[in-house]
Amino acid sequence: MLLDKMKRLFADEPNVVHECRRCGTSLSADEDMCPECGSTESAQFEIE
Ligand SMILES: [Zn+2]
Repeated sequence: MLLDKMKRLFADEPNVVHECRRCGTSLSADEDMCPECGSTESAQFEIE
């Protein structure tokens, strides 16, 4: 159902991991910048 899919997009998805590309610090989904090294390059991994 489309509504369910949209809800998933806005929810904090537990199966998606955000991580700093530079130092590997785990970031929360709404963090654009790494609090450790200040890098704005984050990687997203989907865990199946
Ligand atoms: Zn970092």
